[in-house]
Amino acid sequence: MPIHLSDLDVTSEVAGLSSALIVPCNMCPAVTVAVREKKPFLQFFRSCLKSAPFEQHIRALQSRLREKGLNTKVFKSHLYHQWFLCMWTSGRRRKLQKYAKQYEAVIVLGCDSATETVREVVKSTDCKVIEGMEVAGIMNARPRFHLPCSISFENCEIVPIK
Ligand code: SF4
Repeated sequence: MPIHLSDLDVTSEVAGLSSALIVPCNMCPAVTVAVREKKPFLQFFRSCLKSAPFEQHIRALQSRLREKGLNTKVFKSHLYHQWFLCMWTSGRRRKLQKYAKQYEAVIVLGCDSATETVREVVKSTDCKVIEGMEVAGIMNARPRFHLPCSISFENCEIVPIK
């Protein structure tokens, strides 16, 4: 099951910056937010390529950062094979490197492996790498399919990492 993550307050990290690229991993963080908010992870009749709770979570983060004077864009990964940031292809990594050059910072929404991937990709740029989430444990949950066509996770427990 996915890694469970907690949000980190990035406001002190972005102080003095004017632009940042938000780089989300679309798997564990999206499941985390859906479970936390007790909402479906995916609703295929709305979009089979987006988790609505996570999309809203990112929009709320952008709005909070805008109030601090930070303009943000999201590095979007729509296709399923791009969802797992820890397993990005070389092409995907090159694309992020090209985009990140235009920003003062990248805010990673994912685990340590996601951050490491992004850190490696942007190391030749001046981009500051900011962690937007941290690992809280491993999720133990049961997937459930609901009609007309959505997936939720139920009976969730967070198993600590020893
Ligand atoms: S990068 Fe981390 S958060 Fe994203 S899918 Fe891989 S293990 Fe999960």
